Amino acid sequence: MLLLAALAITMRKPIARALQRLYRALTTQTQEMKRLALVAERTSNWVLTTTPDRVVLWANQAALQGLGLTESEVVGKNLLAYAASQGNDAQEMALLGDELDRGLSVKMEILVRAHKGQNIWLDVEYQPTYDEHRKLSGFMVMGLDITERVNQRHKMTAVFNALPVGVVVQSSTGEVIDCNPATSEISGLSRDELMGLASTSVAGGSVRDDLTPYPASELPTARTLRTGEGLRGESLGHIKPNGEMRWLMVNTEPLRDAQGDLSGVVSSMVDVTEQREQQKLLALAVDGAGLGTWQWDIAADEMTCNDRLLEIFGCRRGDVEMTSKGFYRLIHPEDVPAWMSLMKEQMVTPGMQRRFEIRIRHGNGLWVWMMFSGAVVTRGPEGRPLRMAGVCIDINAKRLLEEQLREMARTDTLTQMPNRAVVMERVRDAIIRARAEPGYNFAVLFMDFDRFKQVNDTLGHSVGDELLRQIAQRLQQSLRPGDSYTPSSDFSQMAARIGGDEFVVVLDDIRGDLDAEIVASRLLDVLAQPYEIESHTVNSSVSIGIVTSTHAADDVEAVLRDADIAMYEAKRTGRGRYVLFEPSMHKRVRDDVTLEAELRRALPQDELFVVYQPLVDLVSGELAGMEALVRWQHPLRGLVSPVEFIPVAEACGLIESIGHFVLQTACAEFAHLQALLGREAPRSVSVNLSRAQLRDPALVGNVRDVLRASGMEAAQLQLEVTESLAAQDSVVQARLQELRSLGVTLALDDFGTGYSSLSCLHELPVHTVKIDRSFVSMAQTSDYHRVLIEATILMAETLGMNTVAEGIETTGQADLMRALRCNKGQGFLFSRPLGLAALVQWISAHAAKAPSRSEQVQADVTVAPTWADPG
Ligand code: C2E
Ligand code: CA
Ligand code: CA
Repeated sequence: MLLLAALAITMRKPIARALQRLYRALTTQTQEMKRLALVAERTSNWVLTTTPDRVVLWANQAALQGLGLTESEVVGKNLLAYAASQGNDAQEMALLGDELDRGLSVKMEILVRAHKGQNIWLDVEYQPTYDEHRKLSGFMVMGLDITERVNQRHKMTAVFNALPVGVVVQSSTGEVIDCNPATSEISGLSRDELMGLASTSVAGGSVRDDLTPYPASELPTARTLRTGEGLRGESLGHIKPNGEMRWLMVNTEPLRDAQGDLSGVVSSMVDVTEQREQQKLLALAVDGAGLGTWQWDIAADEMTCNDRLLEIFGCRRGDVEMTSKGFYRLIHPEDVPAWMSLMKEQMVTPGMQRRFEIRIRHGNGLWVWMMFSGAVVTRGPEGRPLRMAGVCIDINAKRLLEEQLREMARTDTLTQMPNRAVVMERVRDAIIRARAEPGYNFAVLFMDFDRFKQVNDTLGHSVGDELLRQIAQRLQQSLRPGDSYTPSSDFSQMAARIGGDEFVVVLDDIRGDLDAEIVASRLLDVLAQPYEIESHTVNSSVSIGIVTSTHAADDVEAVLRDADIAMYEAKRTGRGRYVLFEPSMHKRVRDDVTLEAELRRALPQDELFVVYQPLVDLVSGELAGMEALVRWQHPLRGLVSPVEFIPVAEACGLIESIGHFVLQTACAEFAHLQALLGREAPRSVSVNLSRAQLRDPALVGNVRDVLRASGMEAAQLQLEVTESLAAQDSVVQARLQELRSLGVTLALDDFGTGYSSLSCLHELPVHTVKIDRSFVSMAQTSDYHRVLIEATILMAETLGMNTVAEGIETTGQADLMRALRCNKGQGFLFSRPLGLAALVQWISAHAAKAPSRSEQVQADVTVAPTWADPG
């Protein structure tokens, strides 16, 4: 009592009141109960006392508050009936009642729907109380609010059930005491089948990696129970009741009781069958593909690899230091920077995976191309890379093949020179450099072998090919670095064949246009030397078009096009020369296009007409014949030269109609002259035929018709074909034979400018040889030309052919030609080409002053010594 009084003094008023209440209630209770109740009033746990029939006698403040009831509402209630009313299992409550009746202390969890609607879980303990006669006096009921714990447990259970990983709890004897649904799924055994199973009985269906049975005592759980150590990543093959085998990865964790004694084991299992299959497949693939595999532990700087990788590297384990440094030492120095930067990038870029080709020093000392592919496979906190892994393939053969193919794609097979692709690349680089670097100059020399096509057509492709090879050889030799001719050999020169007989030389880093011109004239010189091919001597020249950075366009195609334009300009203006491109040349190209359009209208609009140049008998001085030459009187341009428009007409298919017009006009006017002048009229008329006309199957018929229409004799018509045309082209030859059989005569025009030599002359079905103006003009100064003319005339004489010297401009030339026994002459000395009326005038004037035949013979005699012994 003393204690109570002392307590009362220190207690606050409500407690004092409660104590009085308690004291009243406890009058029927034991002293022990009284003492307990006193303490109970101060605890937050629920405390109630009941009669042996569980009728509430008293409840503490915490219980009243928790239940949300007043004392009078609680006292007198049957606790078990109340619990049942709160949703607890009635049957369980009845069972509880039975146990309590037997005076047992019982512990259980019950649910109480508290007054605020929230559920409270209580851990309830019924303690029987006895009176002094040791007779059951009632129960002391204590409730502990475990709502939080229960909720936590429910959550855990949900997780446990929802886990895709199988979790099994076993007792210390190995008996299964709990397992989650995933376990059933993985093992193929129901929960009921699993519960109570000893791990030993599962073992019958378990195998090791090598498919040998797993002894029960060695199962991971058994080992953990034996050693008390958890295990990680144990592999176990489990045979399901249906016979299917699944591979499991098992972890174990020992369970310990409060004293730290081993009380059981928890194991988790993941079905890794699919992964294992994948891995096996991957391993097979890696092996089958000859893949080297590697891993790099970045923090420890340790590299590992498979045997295949060592094989690829051509070394044995231990030969190479397995660190990043050791690896870098094997990489080709040129590839190291790129490799390093890739690695850096890979480190900071999650998910990055890239192929990379580098050269590795093979065990045999050679550099070998390999393809590496890898990625960071493990990262630490903040994405720090921890481990990289990847594969490596030997791609040396592939690279070599690629290089070979690339080289092949860049090489002209005939000449083994670089090809167009290389030129494009070089020129592109040069353009870019020129843009960026003031003072840097380059040049592109575009060259075309004059009359290559004719060589090909007449001497055959093998000769043509050989000619190209020889050209290539000369080009490369003359461009050799350090070539004595090259004034500054510090610029680089590259020659390439870009198609047909077209070659390009790229000069890089020249001082200026002059360097390009020097190289060009050197090349003209070298390439103009005669070529000896299969017993043929081929004489020709090249024409070169040059584009230098001074006038270079911005793109490669345009530069090459401009060089081509300049080259055509070189051809047009005489061949065997070089021409520097100027932008004004574009105009010419455009002009050609307009020229074509205008030429189409020329004929119907009567803009074309024919002029005649007299041919003079060099011995008698008499008019021997005349050559018809076409003219175009353009309304705006004025008189256009055939040199300009005949090639255009040939290119656009107008030549047949123009040629026909000339033939018709020439024959008609020739007949007219016969009628007009009688004996003084020219004895024959020559008409030029172009290549396209000779290929025209209608030609022979046309000639026959024209002859018939004009009424002239076939023998009075001479058709001129160029040397190159008359040569060994079978179609042309057949056509010439047909023309011959019509009775017309044939003349070989421009003799000496082509490639065929005197030895071929006898094969040509011609009556007359016209020695080209270029030879005539050189005859007085060049022994070579003079000797050639002489030989030609001798040969022609032998073959019964006539000779005509073209382009005689001076009496000196006339005298020389006469002395060389050339039959006829043609040239400005005698007359320029004349219109019909002017020609008639010229003829009558000429007839008046022309010396007689007998006088000519004497002239011949007097002149001869002058040239025969010029020195
Ligand atoms: P070609 O057949 O060699 O004609 C001779 C050319 O030399 C003519 O030029 C003529 O005017 C020129 N000529 C003649 N004597 C001299 C001379 O002493 N000095 C110089 N410097 N030149 C002289 P043209 O009329 O300009 O004709 C040039 C070329 O055009 C001809 O060369 C011929 O190949 C072609 N041509 C002219 N008319 C026709 C034609 O009707 N049909 C065909 N297919 N071609 C023609
Ligand atoms: Ca001619
Ligand atoms: Ca000629």
